[in-house]
Amino acid sequence: MKSQKKQTSDRVGWRFDNSYARLPDYFYAQLPPVPVNAPQTVIVNHALAESLGLDLGVLSAEETALLFSGNVLPQGAQPIAQAYAGHQFGHFTMLGDGRAILLGEHLTPNGERFDIQLKGSGQTPFSRRGDGRAALAPMLREYIISEAMQGLGIPSTRSLAVVTTGEQVIRETQLPGAILTRIAASHIRVGTFEYAAGQGGVDAIKTLADYAIQRHYPDLNDAENPYLSLLNRVIDRQAALIAKWLLSGFIHGVMNTDNMSISGETIDYGPCAFMDAYNPNTVFSSIDQNGRYRYSNQPQMAQWNLARLAETLLSLIDSAQEKAITLAEEAIHAFPEKFQAEWITGMRKKLGLFTEETEDSELITDFLTWMYQHQADYTNTFRALSAETFPADNTFQNAELETWHARWQARLERQSETKERSMHLMQANNPAIIPRNHRVEEALSAASEQGDYTLMQQLLAALDNPYTDAPEHYDYRTPPAPSERVYQTFCGT
Ligand code: AMP
Ligand code: MG
Repeated sequence: MKSQKKQTSDRVGWRFDNSYARLPDYFYAQLPPVPVNAPQTVIVNHALAESLGLDLGVLSAEETALLFSGNVLPQGAQPIAQAYAGHQFGHFTMLGDGRAILLGEHLTPNGERFDIQLKGSGQTPFSRRGDGRAALAPMLREYIISEAMQGLGIPSTRSLAVVTTGEQVIRETQLPGAILTRIAASHIRVGTFEYAAGQGGVDAIKTLADYAIQRHYPDLNDAENPYLSLLNRVIDRQAALIAKWLLSGFIHGVMNTDNMSISGETIDYGPCAFMDAYNPNTVFSSIDQNGRYRYSNQPQMAQWNLARLAETLLSLIDSAQEKAITLAEEAIHAFPEKFQAEWITGMRKKLGLFTEETEDSELITDFLTWMYQHQADYTNTFRALSAETFPADNTFQNAELETWHARWQARLERQSETKERSMHLMQANNPAIIPRNHRVEEALSAASEQGDYTLMQQLLAALDNPYTDAPEHYDYRTPPAPSERVYQTFCGT
């Protein structure tokens, strides 16, 4: 059924080809976004629009707001809410897009395919008891963090725009409502596979697996066992992704299977945050009571999620169940090693190491242990290594650190690369700027409470080049004062 809604002309450059909507109809519900009262654009990502081949400059302010609110659909859109399931904090649940609508897949001038999704777009058949809406601050939060991830070089969904709806949403208090336009390689989740497996029979899961291969890993069509290869590829991508999270101090906060993407992008920014002082037990999320998704537990949780994915693929991996289980287990058991390899490769770069020595692992661990014991700032301590001297901070005037520093210097001497090359490597791998919580919260308050987006724009500008030491952004490097520390973050759903 075609949407009844008005569509904008394609002056913008939309090129929709909606392959997901061609899957069997149990994979989604067809419906348009629920219109909002008085949409107003508060932020647009012009650089991203340009890279997608979209020319938003042709739209008036009013047309832009109508587009990003879903009140008017772009030409070629075919709005659907995707069905999925998921394990949330270990418990299986039926979910689905309860407050999001996939407008369709846009093809860029280079032929790349991206989902265009509105988040906060109203109720769907999957809303359960939710209102289908989102509050402004959490949508801006996703915008900031996802764009920060992009700047840091960590695979992520992107944020194209945020509009306010002119409506209030009721949470603990009344809050301004908003809609985020999210761009993703796809929204196929581990939970989508769990949903398909629950459809019974091998058809649904095969359809989805074939689709995922076609869309993300087309080279696997020729693999000897494409479905086992699919599993392995997702494992590889997740090992690389989670390593990047740990290397940058990122804590996702809600690593449920419905929030893990088959493409290997970070997805669904809720109560996520970057840690300041190094502590592997850091948890920010107010709903993560047992620290299931704490910083250091993220690799284990990724592996747990991947095991749920593996279970859905068993019948495709081999018709003999025993053999399928053996193969899937082998694949899952390889995760820790794959993760570790990605992590140590990244850590060597953070320490300016081009070569590999067995003792590197100890060198790294000792440095982290020192940071933990001295509550040193994770980002700044690594960044300080690439400066000639440590800052004249009390934390760094330390005999243990001097001993470690001498060991590290000796290690650098044992490789033929110059110190200068090491410095460059380190500067490209130790960000000067991360979206520190207190600065994110400060920007969000100004935006959502006073309608002042200056701080947010400044923060985004700094996060655009996190590996450069620009004097005008120096301020963003300061860790929170005790009074500014953010201990908890909230989903805001
Ligand atoms: P999330 O915590 O954002 O990953 O969401 C988990 C599930 O809850 C997804 O199925 C969402 O679509 C759904 N959900 C979250 N917030 C709402 C809401 N306000 N209304 C309806 N569904 C929601
Ligand atoms: Mg989610």
